[in-house]
Order: sequence, then structure tokens, then C-alpha cells
Amino acid sequence: MSISVAVVDAETPGNVGTIARAMKNFGFEDLLLVDPPELDPDGEAYGFAGHAREDVLPNARKVSFDYLVEHYHTVGTTATTNEDHRRHIRYPFTTPADLAQSLRGVETDTCLVFGRERVGLHNEELERIDEVCAIPASAEYPVLNLGQAATVVLYELRELTVEETQLPDAIERAPEGDIEGLHDQFASFLDALRHEDSRRPKTERLFRRLLGRAHPTTREVSTLRGVFRKAEDGLRYGLPGDREEGE
Ligand code: SAH
Repeated sequence: MSISVAVVDAETPGNVGTIARAMKNFGFEDLLLVDPPELDPDGEAYGFAGHAREDVLPNARKVSFDYLVEHYHTVGTTATTNEDHRRHIRYPFTTPADLAQSLRGVETDTCLVFGRERVGLHNEELERIDEVCAIPASAEYPVLNLGQAATVVLYELRELTVEETQLPDAIERAPEGDIEGLHDQFASFLDALRHEDSRRPKTERLFRRLLGRAHPTTREVSTLRGVFRKAEDGLRYGLPGDREEGE
């Protein structure tokens, strides 16, 4: 089990430095940067990073957003949660403390994803992310500064960075590629079902949030893929028994 931290398109090097420092404070090492600002060794990022200027920050890797989706169980963070069960971009969401609870004992490579200072993560990005996490804060002003938000989330997750061997019976979550394959299969099943176009994105997001919480195993994913594939074939070509009768 590993927990990485990704920052998407940050504007301010100081925030990246603050995040690197919080990571080191709470036992996290792997920092991933999507479209980062220039990180000058004599600039703010290194200035704010404290001892993380020696390892977390210089070891940070530049990656694409696709890379995150394809390789990790992704958890997007957002201050905006004013949605209900009719939409699934930011709903349901978890608090950092509940996230720590749900990740405990799950064998997965997770990535916490933080967004842009001004606008956070775009809807198109959140749609591709498995789970959503929000720090409960004042309804009047729930938006924390990027570096501070990361600090709070990492504080809550600190207990997951202790030795894995102390964790009982980890569930091994299926590889991310398999889970993405199940999402593709589900989409193709909806095609065969001629599910109304207007409801498609919501239905797909609902399914993504459901699986995001469920941490399915390899066997569960392959069984579900098989069931959806058969259902799709049944819709397109008729069920196997019916096909034989027709011959
Ligand atoms: N309107 C944006 C604000 C961006 S704040 C939004 O709703 O997300 C910049 C980043 O800080 C966010 O993308 C998120 O990663 C983090 N952040 C800020 N406040 C947060 C909160 N209350 N809970 C979780 N993350 C938060």
C-alpha cells in the first residue's frame, strides 16, 4: 500500500513547497506534479519546503493527469460539495478522517489529488477520479489555501504511513487498469442498452463513485466485467439459448 500526493496545475511555487513539507512531516514521500510552475532551487518552493527540500521536493516527478487515473486509486480533494444524489461529480464525498478509515486495510496505491489555487480541479478531471474528499469547514467559507488543505488531509492520513505489517488482512484492490476496463465495459453495456444519452454521464459517474468506495478485488472486477459483457452480447445478438432455438 502506498499513498502519493499529486498537485494539478498549481500556480504558486510556495504552495508546492508547503505540500512537500507537510508530506515529510506526516511520513509521505511520493510527490507527483501535473503542469507545475517553475520550481527554482533558490525560489519559494524550496524556501517553504523545510527539510523536504532535500528529498520530497527534488524527487518530485512530473506526470500527466492520465497517468494518475491509469496508475492509482485517485482521491480528488475539493471545497465545493454543494451537490446531492442527482449528480455525482462531487457526491458522495468523504471527510479526510473517514478516508483514512476506509483506506486502512486496503492494498492499493492511492493518490491524493489537489487542485488549482483559484478553480480547483475541473469537473472533467473530477469525473475521472475515483473518490472525492472534502475537509468539513464553515459553510460561509469552506475554501482553504491549497497548502493548508493538503496539510490537514495528510495529518488525518498520517496513521496509514506506519508499517503495513501492523495492518490486519489487507484487501487487495484490483489493478487500476482492470478497474478502468470495467468502466469501459460498463459504458459499452450502456451503449447496447441504448441508455438515454442525456443520462449517460451521470450513470457512469454514479458507477465510478460506487466502485471508488468499494475497492473491488481482481476477481470481483473480472466477474463484473464478464457479466456486463454477456449482458451486452445478449442485448446485441440475443441470449445464447434464444440464439440456438432460432437455428
Ligand atoms: N473552488 C475551488 C477552490 C480551490 S482551493 C474548489 O472548490 O476546489 C485549491 C485546492 O485546495 C483545491 O483544489 C483542493 O485541492 C484544496 N482544498 C481547498 N479547500 C478544501 C477543502 N475544504 N477540502 C478539501 N480540499 C480543499
